[in-house]
Amino acid sequence: MLLVALGALARAPRPVLLRAGAKPVRAAGMLVTDALARTVGVCHCGACSVALVGEPTGASYCHCRVCRRLSGAPSMAIALAPVERVALAGATTALRTSARVSRIRCAACAAPLAALLGERTAALPLGLFDFAAGGAPPSWRPAHHMHYDSRVLDVADDLPKYAGSARGDLWRAGAAPRAPEPGADG
Ligand SMILES: [Zn+2]
Ligand SMILES: [Zn+2]
Repeated sequence: MLLVALGALARAPRPVLLRAGAKPVRAAGMLVTDALARTVGVCHCGACSVALVGEPTGASYCHCRVCRRLSGAPSMAIALAPVERVALAGATTALRTSARVSRIRCAACAAPLAALLGERTAALPLGLFDFAAGGAPPSWRPAHHMHYDSRVLDVADDLPKYAGSARGDLWRAGAAPRAPEPGADG
């Protein structure tokens, strides 16, 4: 099966190839072997898979308009990881949705596989992964909501809710909605 490092798709200078049973490869100074935990998600038709070595560096719910319209869901739950630890297999298509975000889908069933946020970070939809009973492990669970001003459904949980990106202000009930950020995406 052909495996393409996500970093290579982004023309990042640090391509990494992950192959089951292959000799260990070095990724950002980390020795990647099959002994490291690797979590694999698959698309609807099974033609594509996405693998993450190790744990996500974070996870969130994104309510932005781009995520909503491209997923058809009121929000997307995504896990973040450095591209060096992510590998895609199968034929894909890519759509640039903002200056720094490209979204990759299965070429056959159009399932979203990953978004590249700049050249270094990948966002992986949690919906691709079948976790063991009990659902996603703690490191995969979203820790906040972002672009909550753009939501179509309220969410009744205790997670922090950011009006826009997670680098910005927290959303406050009753506050006037913010103007959409130009190119808000991700
Ligand atoms: Zn597919
Ligand atoms: Zn989004």
